[in-house]
Amino acid sequence: MLKTKKRIVIANWKMNPQTADDAWSLFSGIKKTASKLRFVHTIICPPATYLLDLSDSYRGKNISFGAQNIFWKEKGSFTGEISARQIHDAGARFVLVGHSERRALGETNENVWLKVKAALKERLHVILCIGESERDESGDYLHFLREQLESALNGVKAADLNRTIIAYEPIWAIGKTGEDAITPDKLHEMVLFIRRVLVERYNKTAIDTPIIYGGSVEKENAQGLLERGVVAGFLVGHASLDATEFSSILKIANETKAL
Ligand code: PEP
Repeated sequence: MLKTKKRIVIANWKMNPQTADDAWSLFSGIKKTASKLRFVHTIICPPATYLLDLSDSYRGKNISFGAQNIFWKEKGSFTGEISARQIHDAGARFVLVGHSERRALGETNENVWLKVKAALKERLHVILCIGESERDESGDYLHFLREQLESALNGVKAADLNRTIIAYEPIWAIGKTGEDAITPDKLHEMVLFIRRVLVERYNKTAIDTPIIYGGSVEKENAQGLLERGVVAGFLVGHASLDATEFSSILKIANETKAL
């Protein structure tokens, strides 16, 4: 079970860096800070080709590793795919599921659901990404988010919710600058909405499910989003590719202790 008293800060490196040497340098830079922070659990999600070497190099408790994707089948003739068991064996304890960039490549809610089930079956922690592409006055985006959440968790037992993190990542805020991120107040509204959907289904069990935010988190907006947005942590894209910037975010998370 996740220690919810710790902040959770996840680095999504996406298809970066381009060489193992660069991945090694980036991880070494981040590790200097991440390994020392008592109140932050850092999760690095590198490209799958770097997972085994990086995870093998670290034995402490403050940093874990995650994959950016899995396939839902256990084994067989699925050229190019990687199973939950394979990423687990390569050192991943977490996996991103339903990231908007994968959904944009054709991943459906049903695919996401199959991946969630495959990951949980393999005893991995799921980082379930949900997020709307735009907002409308009538609030249809809330129905869209509810659908993403409910379909992905269809049949997931309360016991398995303990191994699930919800990453709210509005697509309109991803890959921009800190100024384009959601405001802390709006984020808080979304956290309350997501919590309500979870509690409707799981009652008390859902009270501690970590809800984190992703979308142009930088050191300038990190504190406000954590404190007034009332999230458990962050999923960080571009700012996780710069060890100094990412370490600053980690330190801010360490200082703004979770409730
Ligand atoms: C992401 O793609 O998960 C993400 C949060 O990216 P960025 O931080 O670059 O917006």
